[in-house]
Amino acid sequence: MSTFQTHEYDVLVIGAGGAGLRAAIEASASGMKVGLICKSLLGKAHTVMAEGGVAAALANVDDRDSWKVHFADTMRGGQYVNNWRMAELHAKEAPDRVRELEAWGAVFDRTKDGRILQRNFGGHRYPRLAHVGDRTGLEMIRTLQDHGIHRGIDVHMEFTVVSLLLTGGRASGIVGYERERGRFKVFNAAAVVLATGGAGRAYKITSNSWEGTGDGHSLAYHAGAELMDMEFIQFHPTGMIWPPSVQGILVTEGVRGEGGVLKNKEGRRFMFDDIPEPYRNQTADNEDEGWRYVQGDKNARRPPELLTRDHVARCIMREVKAGRGSPHGGVFLDIAWIKSKVSGGAEHIKRKLPSMYHQFKELGDIDITSEPMEVGPTTHYIMGGIRVDGDTQMSSIPGLFAAGECAAGINGANRLGGNSLSDLLVFGKRAGEYAAKFAAEHKRVAVDENQAKQATDEALKPFEHGQGKAENPYTIQSDLQEMMQRLVGIVRTEAEMQDAVKELGTLVDRARRAGVTGHREYNPGWHTAIDLKHLLTVSEAIARSAIERKESRGGHFREDFPDKNPEYATFNIVTSRRPDGSMEVKRVPLPPLPSELKQIIEDQKS
Ligand SMILES: Cc1cc2nc3c(=O)[nH]c(=O)nc-3n(C[C@H](O)[C@H](O)[C@H](O)COP(=O)(O)OP(=O)(O)OC[C@H]3O[C@@H](n4cnc5c(N)ncnc54)[C@H](O)[C@@H]3O)c2cc1C
Repeated sequence: MSTFQTHEYDVLVIGAGGAGLRAAIEASASGMKVGLICKSLLGKAHTVMAEGGVAAALANVDDRDSWKVHFADTMRGGQYVNNWRMAELHAKEAPDRVRELEAWGAVFDRTKDGRILQRNFGGHRYPRLAHVGDRTGLEMIRTLQDHGIHRGIDVHMEFTVVSLLLTGGRASGIVGYERERGRFKVFNAAAVVLATGGAGRAYKITSNSWEGTGDGHSLAYHAGAELMDMEFIQFHPTGMIWPPSVQGILVTEGVRGEGGVLKNKEGRRFMFDDIPEPYRNQTADNEDEGWRYVQGDKNARRPPELLTRDHVARCIMREVKAGRGSPHGGVFLDIAWIKSKVSGGAEHIKRKLPSMYHQFKELGDIDITSEPMEVGPTTHYIMGGIRVDGDTQMSSIPGLFAAGECAAGINGANRLGGNSLSDLLVFGKRAGEYAAKFAAEHKRVAVDENQAKQATDEALKPFEHGQGKAENPYTIQSDLQEMMQRLVGIVRTEAEMQDAVKELGTLVDRARRAGVTGHREYNPGWHTAIDLKHLLTVSEAIARSAIERKESRGGHFREDFPDKNPEYATFNIVTSRRPDGSMEVKRVPLPPLPSELKQIIEDQKS
């Protein structure tokens, strides 16, 4: 007789964001019994926060677009260390996934002739982001949720997974706790899909919510899977910076897509000062051309504000460092100026960017239709994640799949805006499909109760420590976030990152002594203590991988190696857990790019 209440499924999906929901729908469509677990309430995942849109080469607004252009844009944005197979599948399949979403009830903004409207976004050559104002994620999650529930998927909300269980080297389930009651439960499944999202909470300034603690990355790592590209963190150029209580909240790139411009305190559009060579031919060299581009003039080139996020973030940092920043340490983002170009401008801005209008009005008392916003970089997305097979999304552990932000590969060194929502749909579907196939071919194996017991004993340790001399989990979390921001942030150096690794060692010791009081029912201190293991694991992988990459590429910028080194374009950096518990960092060669894909990239360079 089991000590744990146990649920049994063919396919178990952890995470109910876009990736998890899409995976669950697909597995269920294959006739599998599917369970779906999420840490918060259904519908509250990060995906709901997505604003700007979903990238897919539908070619509704510009018929020159195609999967080939999208593929080349994604590879160039990722600076050629992407998993090219994933970039190819993503570009080819995203249009069908978006049309499917529409067929399931998603109501996108429309072109005049009734097709899905697409907007401009950084690094995308043509208007490519299907959107619903600036609330695209809400529409996506609503549609997937509706569709999923009607398929009969079992949803377990407010349940946190603390450990993956393996049997004979295969994924066999998970153990976790109900947040409300603090009761542990086991889930036994033939295949497990991780779709747990990102890890932005490893940093002090972030657009991520409390859920972004890198759980899936860490669960997979501790179970023996590999992590890849962990050095590549995306610092989105435009987060709110004032007032301090809202620091980090995202200001969508959609603002720049609609014509918003970046200015320093002298009122100069500094983005024209530094246009990287690979983008020069496709970037406007004067303000008028930039404006014509956002208005849909096919003969115009895009404004430099729509260069890739890594570059824009660094340009902003440079202005601030040079003393040309805004009063609170950022720069100005101005959309109000378009009133001089568009009739009914204020209403137009409110219609196109309703959430941004409300966000600034409510949180900062700023009316974006008449005043500029103050913005600065915020930790937004992690390109690194669980290493998976590009076609099936299976990790190196048989029966363990990963999709969405917790998986690595499609984005390489830098993600283009909009490519995450499409990633969730394309690879969520694939993960669900192949997990179902795996479950059909491999019978469910029983879980090892001892593993589950060990995991629950570890999870309960903070209660044994109580408070007294124990460490407060919140203090450890905030010290970690402050340290990562300072030592492994936007601009990195060897010496600082070596210090970070040392400080991480100290933080790990402190986390072992973390203590909480009270009982297991809705105890946020306890939840924070449990999350620490994940945040520390992910932070160590980020720091060690960033030390290993002695060059600058995409989201990873090293002051001591400010240039790209072509040798580093030939491998990915992979981290895994050695049997003694230490972290191994290795270079794994990238598979050669097939000649037809190479040709596509060459053709798109002009
Ligand atoms: C403000 C904001 C705006 C964005 N705008 C865009 C945009 O316009 N376009 C775009 O392409 N991308 C955008 N992104 C990025 C994109 O939204 C995310 O990368 C994407 O939604 C991640 O989806 P996901 O399914 O991988 O994970 P998430 O949506 O983050 O979902 C993770 C799920 O895992 C669950 N989970 C986590 N850990 C556990 C655990 N231990 N146990 C149980 N459950 C767990 C969570 O509860 C949640 O249900 C934006 C991100 C933010 C923060």
